[in-house]
Amino acid sequence: MRLTANEVGELNPLGGSNPLVSALITVVPLVIERLEELVLTFRIAIVGAGPAGYFAALALQNSATDERNFAIDMIERLPTPWGLVRSGVAPDHPKIKTVSKVFEKIATAENFRLFSNVELGSDVAMSDLVERYDAVVIATGSSLGRKLGIPGEDLRGSLSAADFVPWYNAHPDFANLDVPLDTDTAVVIGAGNVAMDVARMLALDPTEFDPTDTADHAIVAFKKSSVRRVILCARRGPEHAAFTSPELRELPKLEHTNVLMSKDEVSAALSRIGDDAEKDVKNNLGAMELITQKEPTSHARTLEFEFFLTPLEIHGSDRVTEIVLGINKIENGTIVATGEMKTIKCGLVVSAIGYSAEPIMGVPYAKGKVENVEGRVGETNIYTVGWAKRGPSGVIGTNKSDASDVIKLLVENLPNSPKEKDDIEDLLYDKKVVSQSHWEKINAAEVLAGEFHGKPRNKSANVEELLRLGGL
Ligand code: NAP
Repeated sequence: MRLTANEVGELNPLGGSNPLVSALITVVPLVIERLEELVLTFRIAIVGAGPAGYFAALALQNSATDERNFAIDMIERLPTPWGLVRSGVAPDHPKIKTVSKVFEKIATAENFRLFSNVELGSDVAMSDLVERYDAVVIATGSSLGRKLGIPGEDLRGSLSAADFVPWYNAHPDFANLDVPLDTDTAVVIGAGNVAMDVARMLALDPTEFDPTDTADHAIVAFKKSSVRRVILCARRGPEHAAFTSPELRELPKLEHTNVLMSKDEVSAALSRIGDDAEKDVKNNLGAMELITQKEPTSHARTLEFEFFLTPLEIHGSDRVTEIVLGINKIENGTIVATGEMKTIKCGLVVSAIGYSAEPIMGVPYAKGKVENVEGRVGETNIYTVGWAKRGPSGVIGTNKSDASDVIKLLVENLPNSPKEKDDIEDLLYDKKVVSQSHWEKINAAEVLAGEFHGKPRNKSANVEELLRLGGL
């Protein structure tokens, strides 16, 4: 805030008539204004308001100097920001979501604008961004579930975690997903943390979701669910699983679910790995041993881990009734099929075998990612961070160092001075844009609604309702 000459005069202890003070009052603001003009402000668009996008914004904010700063516009397709922290992280893992406090601090810093409910491709084109910004950072993640590519995969009751996870997390695009839970047995394919989240969500007692931000529609469905047996199938051995040990270590603590893993299988894996095995592998096997040591209880719900099973076919006429898996073994250190098969009767199969990025018009894609070299797309002013850049790997914190490296490169490649350009707002005059202040209203309303029910928030899965909560 700048005081007017009169206002400063009122503060002048020598009185308003001193000529030196009057001169200073006139000159100082002009000097400050001139100095401010000398600071070069580069305009950067970040597409995607998930962890990678926010950490890119933070890296830009941290790269500001007295001579150069950044005006950041974050563009997000949904009316709500936070990406996977809102629609990916399992609702029974609220601690992981506290990183949203960091995101909100980034968003309330100077020179940051949020443009949520704005879709790249339909509302603005990549070429608009390239023209109007000194650099564009793609942080759109990987939202498409990889396919098993086996017969029966498209049957009712066969789902991808890429759809199931956002369904229970109140992502508006998946609110009406058909999730048939009227079956005793569900099979989850994959041995990563997403498979583990999915299996746990299916195997927990649904009353455990009451104090969480699980979507209301999912809590209703889980409460009606007949699923009592969840079998997670990994195609390789325990020592090859992509789980992380904190996630494994919480399994023996589940209050209403028996977690079953073969003692022999884990012992065999321990005997296969040498002393020089990676620390993560040793930690995982240590955590698995704890699971095998837990005495089974009489809980009706079980979560079973099966190793060395490759899905071959899903059977059913109008609905999944069973899955056929090939049994593998280790031969000379490699996984080979034994030729034997195992059939599991089940009404639900969820595959959690990784993701690929959804292509954006005007951006080159290869192997499920934005084509890039260390985060830069060719010789352009387009950069990419997070899963869109490196594929679906790493935990939320991985994006911090990743974004910081890419932003360093971006800053090094900036021209000497920012280009003259129009504001993106010109293109969005007839669009209901959710700005940071609109989002803060949505956020406050959801948290308030949650408090009433003893939850961290009550998420809306409806775009119109979200816009209404934001006052739009
Ligand atoms: P992931 O960790 O890469 O695991 C994918 C799993 O799918 C692997 O076990 C892989 O087995 C298996 N797979 C791939 N293709 C298959 C096929 N055709 N048939 C059977 N199995 C197949 O991926 P993710 O679980 O989607 O997780 C993505 C990232 O998010 C990971 O870095 C993960 O740690 C992170 N994440 C973290 C948390 C958390 O911190 N709590 C929660 C969720 C996700 P192979 O190894 O044999 O290829």
